[in-house]
Amino acid sequence: MIYLDHAATTPVRPEVLQAMWPYLTGDFGNPSSHHEVGESAARGLASARASAATALGCRPAEVIFTSGGTEADNLAVKGIALANPRGRHIVTTAIEHEAVLESCDYLRRHHGFEISLAPLSPEGVVDAAAFAELLRPDTTLATVMHASNEIGSVQPIPSLADAAHGRGIPFHTDAVQSAGWLPVGLDVLGVDALSVSGHKLGAPKGVGVLAVRGAIPLEPVNHGGGQERGRRSGTENVAGAVAMATALSLMEPHPLTPVARDLIVDGVLAAVPGAILTGHRTDRLPNHASFCFPGTSGEAVLLELEARGVTCSSGSACAAGSDEPSHVLVALGIDPEIAQTAVRFTLDAETTEGEAREVVARVVEAVAAVGGLAAR
Ligand code: PLP
Repeated sequence: MIYLDHAATTPVRPEVLQAMWPYLTGDFGNPSSHHEVGESAARGLASARASAATALGCRPAEVIFTSGGTEADNLAVKGIALANPRGRHIVTTAIEHEAVLESCDYLRRHHGFEISLAPLSPEGVVDAAAFAELLRPDTTLATVMHASNEIGSVQPIPSLADAAHGRGIPFHTDAVQSAGWLPVGLDVLGVDALSVSGHKLGAPKGVGVLAVRGAIPLEPVNHGGGQERGRRSGTENVAGAVAMATALSLMEPHPLTPVARDLIVDGVLAAVPGAILTGHRTDRLPNHASFCFPGTSGEAVLLELEARGVTCSSGSACAAGSDEPSHVLVALGIDPEIAQTAVRFTLDAETTEGEAREVVARVVEAVAAVGGLAAR
């Protein structure tokens, strides 16, 4: 089986499992407990926090461990927007993950916020000048994802963040898909807040981080015992935090034009007439190749590929099971019928050139089997 659905989730790395194991067994304590078992868990949590802070270009006190990317995005959007007295206006894009879009919509419905969506190119890249024009004196937050889970396009985050800062507006980015592939961090991206998720980079599901500058006021979403400096109550997932920190510390830079991805992109476009690449050709995640195959159904192509030993996605995992076309593709002006034909391949660092060539051959067969397009 060639597994090319790493944007949906990744296996836990052996180093990560090894690092977290002691905190599930011997050092299982509650870090708030005042005895040795609790204190050794507290030390593990503190060292995970310090290590995550190094990886994310911030101070340990600026790391908030969460239950994943969704919670990190909810806390960033609701927490920053509600704590900011400037007004009730947010600038974002139509192609954000649901965790951001639904949080914005919650603020619109329950707190009277107005949401502005920045214009995008057909490749799904934010127009920086048009983005800057949307910023207003009552804007409380700007939030733009670093890279898209569905189409792989990478946004010019440092320049968008600069524009927001020029108007005194905090800037958050969802770096769930880019972490592990592109340099991420509050420092390198110049942002005030950044979300990452463990299970996208070799840690288990159910842990994430919101890194947020100490100077940014944050209204908590989880109320309770006051853990994480009162910003996220709930007994800390110590083993998860250790796993997350270990996975972050193992992140390595990748070439921006990786051979395996480009073999798939170029190979599929050459071999499947009518195939459309979604997202930007070059400003895209190094592990991401996504297409529409007009005249087919994405679900049917996915099943044909699975029967041939290639596991991929027919869109985003979060939208899987829904019959609706992807909100991302529709926002880019792709006809909803064509959007239903989307197929996404997301590689890992070990995907070989041989596997990439094999995938292209299987795609040609799968599309032909579905009968939409005549394969060459
Ligand atoms: N943001 C993006 C861009 C994602 O791709 C995902 C998951 O697919 C999330 C947020 C949610 O992360 P989690 O699954 O950890 O809740």
